Amino acid sequence: MTINDSKGSPQAALCYFCVLPFQNSQPLSAPTEILKKYWGYSSFRPQQAEIIDSILAGQDTLALLPTGGGKSVCYQVPAMVMKGMCLVVSPLIALMKDQVERLNDIGIPATCLVSGMHYNDVVRTLQEAANGSYKLLYVSPERLKSELFRDYLVEFDLSLLAVDEAHCISQWGHDFRPAYLEIAAVREVHPRVPVLALTASATARVGDDIAASLKMKQPAMFRSSFARPNIFYRVLHTDDKTNVLLRNIGDECSIVYCRSRILTEKLGQYLTHEGAGATVYHAGLTRERREEAQAAWMDDKSPVMVATTAFGMGIDKAGVRKVIHYDAPEHLEAYYQEAGRAGRDGKPSDALTMYYGGDIARLQASTELQYPPESYLRQVYQAVADYLQVPITASPDRYFPFDLHEFCNRFRLRPAEAMPALKLLERQGLWTLTESVYHPATVQFIADRRTLDSLSLSHPQLAYLTVGLLRMYNGIFHYPVSVREAAVARQLRMNKDEVVTLLGRLHDMELLLYNRPTDGPQLFFHHYRVDSRFLHINMKRINELKLHHQQRVDAMVRFLENETECRERLLLQYFDEQVTTNCGHCDVCAAKTTPRQSANKLKTDLQTRLPPAGRVSLFEVCGWYPPTITDTVINTLRLMADEGVVRIQQGFVEWVG
Ligand code: ADP
Repeated sequence: MTINDSKGSPQAALCYFCVLPFQNSQPLSAPTEILKKYWGYSSFRPQQAEIIDSILAGQDTLALLPTGGGKSVCYQVPAMVMKGMCLVVSPLIALMKDQVERLNDIGIPATCLVSGMHYNDVVRTLQEAANGSYKLLYVSPERLKSELFRDYLVEFDLSLLAVDEAHCISQWGHDFRPAYLEIAAVREVHPRVPVLALTASATARVGDDIAASLKMKQPAMFRSSFARPNIFYRVLHTDDKTNVLLRNIGDECSIVYCRSRILTEKLGQYLTHEGAGATVYHAGLTRERREEAQAAWMDDKSPVMVATTAFGMGIDKAGVRKVIHYDAPEHLEAYYQEAGRAGRDGKPSDALTMYYGGDIARLQASTELQYPPESYLRQVYQAVADYLQVPITASPDRYFPFDLHEFCNRFRLRPAEAMPALKLLERQGLWTLTESVYHPATVQFIADRRTLDSLSLSHPQLAYLTVGLLRMYNGIFHYPVSVREAAVARQLRMNKDEVVTLLGRLHDMELLLYNRPTDGPQLFFHHYRVDSRFLHINMKRINELKLHHQQRVDAMVRFLENETECRERLLLQYFDEQVTTNCGHCDVCAAKTTPRQSANKLKTDLQTRLPPAGRVSLFEVCGWYPPTITDTVINTLRLMADEGVVRIQQGFVEWVG
């Protein structure tokens, strides 16, 4: 019996509670009992129960819940209720591993297929999944394309297809991943399996696009308000971001988002120098460094994480008290998601964004930068093909290490211009760019057995390694198998460098193909290479996207420059939510509720506190008052400076005369 038989009412679906192979207890009962039994939670959060009921009724479902709203439970609980396995498509390896670990910890059989896995492990996992050993299988969207996966997909007894971060499927979304479009193909193989799309940020347009791209049939849509009443949104126009940052950073758990990797490094050093325990995260760091940084922050060893936007997706840390945008974010979707990482525990938390004239200019210039002319796109296409040495008519269908800076240097391109072009061409389905995926070494023999045997006389050491490899790895004659050089070395009592050198020699002698392990960014080239002059580029689509981008920039700039409307209200309206009340605690609301007399009172207060002689830092002055009125304090001092009563210089204030 499959879940599809349960179409109709949620009650009907509840008849199919399964007895799982991993526990021979009585059939599990209602979702609430499962929630209690495995997660230990006594009730569902808003919309969770409705979403789960909808899935159990076999209904395609679209769930829009804010960050921290508890999206995972919405497919994990039904996965436990229904017979069969839930296939989860998720964009990030770290996210998948984390979820699987948590599920396993609470006794739920789940696993994931991530890139870099040994081929044999992939086959074994797929086999186990087909045998019904897992309740949940997490895969990346790229995996859906692999032939091996497709072979097994038919055999899966699927209960549900869950699509996490579903906005990635929309061209109008802020994080479009072309591989997400592959998900529709799963639906063709399992047309009766319901799909659940989950996202924390989607305008109505993106929601519609998700439903259409996933070929949802009359989807039920659930949306809980995106309002986060415990987050206090603040925006500050300042030319002195560093000082403001320092004033706002304490020893609480915080994230500081910056635009560039260099800036994250500099700010990280600066904050550490100033005594704030800061760590740094960006995509340019090695995997180990990133993991270390994340662990230090998660374990509260370094309370402040200074990061690019590469950090944060899938991070489930409850007590983040502050998210500070050192640079204005590109659009409100990114802003909402990043700021939303504060206060997942429901306690009051700050979201502070700083900007200055340069940020506005950058945002306004971004449309032209991100949507270059067609001729430039062709130039970049040609450069990529030359860089990877893919000849016309070839269709390599594989990963290539792709170092953006080396690529740009070689072809005299500017990274800030080349990257958007690479991304646009990615959107056209030409390739997939991935940041820092670890790929183990692979080896495939291309010489025949006799040639290899003859090595024993001429090159005994190479022959020894060859025989060892043949013993250790099945299929090594037929396809590239993942090989761990250290394991080979251990097995053959050699040292790892020796193994690497010998593999290199065998490769040079064209006896095998040896791809060294890579940990840097990759480009998966998955199309038939054509002459760049004849490449089909859908400029109509690109121009539509360009217009859409400009509209988003305008919305972001309006949000930054806004001084009259409740920020939360603006934000929710952007996400097409009808709101009639003001939040009462964002900077704009707070300024409105502070009567004018308080400004005068503040001025009088400052007059009594400022020392009669000598100067005092603005930092110190602001420290005399609660952080919520920092902007008012600065503005009042500026006013006093305009009146010629005080002088403000290099971050210090003093009486005039
Ligand atoms: P999202 O993906 O929407 O950001 P998660 O699924 O990561 O949110 O859930 C956020 C946190 O809330 C997790 O720690 C999760 O265990 C917890 N959570 C989810 N549902 C409930 C519930 N019904 N009661 C209490 N905590 C919950």
